[in-house]
Amino acid sequence: MAPNIRERTYIMVKPDGVDRGLVGDIIARFERRGFKLIAAKLASPGKEHLEKHYADLMGKPFFPGMIQYMLSGPVFAMVWEGLDAVKTGRVMLGATNPLESGPGTIRGDYALAVGRNICHGSDSVENAEKEIALWFPEGVLQYTRSQESKVFEI
Ligand code: UDP
Ligand code: MG
Repeated sequence: MAPNIRERTYIMVKPDGVDRGLVGDIIARFERRGFKLIAAKLASPGKEHLEKHYADLMGKPFFPGMIQYMLSGPVFAMVWEGLDAVKTGRVMLGATNPLESGPGTIRGDYALAVGRNICHGSDSVENAEKEIALWFPEGVLQYTRSQESKVFEI
């Protein structure tokens, strides 16, 4: 199968990341890697919306505290497009527990606690599509960049 240069992932700066002024840095990392920003907004999701986003984790002991953390301030929601966006996005974020995240990753550079780990990234293409639909019901943009042939082998 030809590589998909249009794979999309949902990346979110969590309330601690917004509060600590890390939105610009996180955008810059995805931009300079070569990904294309196709949607972005600051949002204040309610409990129900967050419970939908994290539905797979309902019942885990950390779930109530994690929802409280996610409700502590606005989040910055983004959709990034490009080759292997989901897997590479996860690599750029680092491990769920920042103590296991390498330096150079977002969590490895800025976080120490699993419950304050700065950012979210989709873990599969299927979940990415679900998350994009949940966070951007208004849809995302499509446009062509002038330098795509410098980023992709096209
Ligand atoms: N989380 C937590 N304690 C845990 C595991 C997860 O507080 O023991 C939080 C953490 O903020 C994590 C989020 O729950 O980012 C979602 O967990 P998931 O396993 O989906 O990790 P992620 O996909 O964010 O790396
Ligand atoms: Mg996850």
